[in-house]
Parts: sequence; structure tokens; C-alpha cells
Amino acid sequence: MLRVLDLTVVVDGKVILEDINLEINPGETHVLFGPNGSGKSTLLGTLIGFNRYKVVNGRIFFKGEDITHLSVYERARRGLGLLFQRPPTIRGLTMRDMINICSQGRGDVEQFAARLNFERFLDREVNHGFSGGELKRSELVQLLAQDPDLVLLDEPESGVDIESIALIGRAINKLLQRDLPDGENRRPLKKKREERQKAGLVITHTGHILNYVNADVGHVLFEGRLSCHGNPRELFTCIQKLGYGECVRCVV
Ligand code: ADP
Ligand code: MG
Repeated sequence: MLRVLDLTVVVDGKVILEDINLEINPGETHVLFGPNGSGKSTLLGTLIGFNRYKVVNGRIFFKGEDITHLSVYERARRGLGLLFQRPPTIRGLTMRDMINICSQGRGDVEQFAARLNFERFLDREVNHGFSGGELKRSELVQLLAQDPDLVLLDEPESGVDIESIALIGRAINKLLQRDLPDGENRRPLKKKREERQKAGLVITHTGHILNYVNADVGHVLFEGRLSCHGNPRELFTCIQKLGYGECVRCVV
């Protein structure tokens, strides 16, 4: 699904990511840990193609195609989707219209919103005056409507209260088409979509999301380098015990 080869990224003349190599297979969910400022958002922003991130070395392949120099909308069309850590406000555009744009008429806006108890926000401007948790729900509703093959999630649980975390966790599982509690992805009518293998790359600070998402592989990004790979839960326990600096020196 995704292959990142020797990727080096510069922001405003400063090297932020160095020699990143990463491979995500269809059906896999990977988790990215790392301290503030280590370059996690930069990596996701580079994968989706924000032009402030300059790729000075390396290549990004998505479903076998070199997308290193494609624009954001071309990547989105091919099936890449991003949940922003800090999503922008868009004045003059309602959530309802935005969700319609994301879904390209493939589904019902009210139904997408209902998954995140978001119906009462539909006639508000995109993200305008939303709280931290509401921003994350807004992002997830848009992603559910877009239905990307590779979902990039930048701290989906940050700012979300304990009660809403389960809601967010279920929406993420729906995006990844895994562990649906209501079994609805097993309906014969949806067979075609069910056979489609999704993948995810999730940044988490708190680790809460590990309680809801079946993560396959964890990585630690430290000072712009991917330093450590292993079982996500074991990695997270190691980080909690030893801190990032020590953790990247141990092999999990
Ligand atoms: P994370 O998401 O891991 O907290 P970011 O990817 O947001 O980290 O940022 C990585 C580093 O890039 C930070 O040290 C940040 O200050 C730096 N950075 C971001 N934008 C710029 C910029 N315009 N000029 C220089 N450094 C920047
Ligand atoms: Mg970040």
C-alpha cells in the first residue's frame, strides 16, 4: 500500500526528516510514537503532499505508483486521506457541503454524521469555533465520507474526552474496516468493499487509541529518524517506563 524509501524532508531550509524507510501492507495498521517536535506531523503532511514540506531525497510509492511529486488532490483521488492534528477552519462552507464534497455523492451526509453524533454540527461552518474533541469528530466524519484506502491519523484522540474516545475508536475501526462491533461490514451487499484492504498510519501521544484499534506494527520517530520498530503495545510500555531517548536504544 505504502512504501517510503530513504525520505529526507526539509522545511524552510531545515532538515526535519532524515532517511525515513517505511512499508505498510494492505490490511495493516501502523502506529507512530515520538516526542513533540520529532517530525511526526511533518511525515504525514509529506505523505499527503503539503507543499511546505520539500522532499530533497527519496521516494514515496502508493499502491506501486511513485507519488512523490503529485499534488494533494491527486493523492486524495488515489485513496490517501489525512486527519489533521490541527485542522483549519473554513469560513463560508458548511459541514454538510464539505461532507458532500468528500463523499462525492457516495453516501448520506446524515448517516456519516450520525456515526460520530455530529448531526447538530452539519449547518455550521467547517470547524469554526469547534472544541478539540469536536474538531476530531469533524475530521473523522469527513474521512468516513471520503473512505480512503490509506488513512493517516494525526493524534485522533487528542483533546477528546474519555467518553467520546470509544466513539472515535469505533469510527477509526470503521475506516480501517476492522473489528466492527455491529458486524455490518459482513453484509453480503457490501462484499466488494469488504474485500478492499485498507491500511492506516496513526500518530498517538497518549496510547489510548491502542485500546480500540488493532495495531500491527509500532515505530518511534526520534529527532527526525525512524529509530525503533516493534509490537505497538510493547513499544508504548517501553516508552512509558524508559522515555523516548532510552527506548530507541533498546530492541523490542
Ligand atoms: P511533531 O508532530 O512530531 O510534534 P512536527 O512535524 O510538527 O513535529 O515538527 C517537527 C519539527 O519541525 C519541529 O521541531 C518544528 O519546530 C519544526 N518546524 C516546523 N515548521 C518549521 C519551519 N517553518 N521552520 C523550521 N522548523 C520548522
Ligand atoms: Mg504533530
